Amino acid sequence: MPHPIEAAGLVKNYGSFRAVDGVTFEVRDGECFGMLGPNGAGKSTTIKMIACTSPVSAGALRVGGFDVATQAREVKRVLGIVPQEDNLDEDLPVRQNLEVYARYFGIAKREAMPRIEESLALFQLSEKAEAKIDDLSGGMKRRLVIARALVHEPRILVLDEPTTGLDPQARHLVWQKLRLLKSRGVTMLLTTHYMDEAAHLCDRLVIMHRGQILTEGNPHSLIAEHVGEAVLELRMEAHERAPLLAEVHGVPGVDVEEVEGMVYVYGAPEAARRIADQISDPSLAFLRPGNLEDVFLRLTGRGLLD
Ligand code: ADP
Repeated sequence: MPHPIEAAGLVKNYGSFRAVDGVTFEVRDGECFGMLGPNGAGKSTTIKMIACTSPVSAGALRVGGFDVATQAREVKRVLGIVPQEDNLDEDLPVRQNLEVYARYFGIAKREAMPRIEESLALFQLSEKAEAKIDDLSGGMKRRLVIARALVHEPRILVLDEPTTGLDPQARHLVWQKLRLLKSRGVTMLLTTHYMDEAAHLCDRLVIMHRGQILTEGNPHSLIAEHVGEAVLELRMEAHERAPLLAEVHGVPGVDVEEVEGMVYVYGAPEAARRIADQISDPSLAFLRPGNLEDVFLRLTGRGLLD
């Protein structure tokens, strides 16, 4: 069986600019696969090629076993797309937004109606079935866009920044729904700027930068590989750093990064704690577990990219 999504040496050129530069990855059956990267990394462009809305410049891309270049119709049947924008039909109430989609996919009304009611219930929108789109909160709109993407019961759901702009409660509700879909066997690919979202939801992920994949793995293995168990954050002026850094630099298994007013020490918890103990003012030292955000920032840089 082919994997739900398989990309090999995938390239996208916009004129002379290469937005996606030879990426190879697979999304496995039933998993939630994350695509992380700073703005401009090429995530949305990759999604557009998967969704058959932007032609592939070079390389191979198969979705549900179908070639996006020659079998777009088949790809669209197995794929649900949740775009970044809530592109709902503002002229139609909530339920009709789903009905129109079902018609588009040629689903008979008698089959579509119970499916739509179930979906409205699942996404906690039943009470809003007759509401205007304008009257929905941001979280409700997102849930409706996800419900809409599922009307034709796709095997694979692709979500471009599914919770950007939502407040924490609304994000958690979306996460809960996505976990439920996963437990029902839906394979998911999502892009996100939120590292906690990726850590919560993703079985495996890639970090992209300038059109290329920098690393791939599950959140735990990526943290172990690139950061280590502990991170010590030290707020120190440049002149205070020298003696400490001289000492830290040679310690095996410890890595140091200096960024503006901060020093980050990555490595084993014992080593980090020993260093923290040397700081005269403990309020300036913060020892915490390594996380995915550290991986991301170490690989893509802490400077502003745009
Ligand atoms: P991401 O989703 O990771 O933020 P994108 O895939 O949107 O990144 O963009 C990748 C790069 O391609 C960016 O430098 C962006 O400016 C460029 N780009 C995206 N779409 C187009 C387009 N239609 N024409 C030219 N350049 C584009």
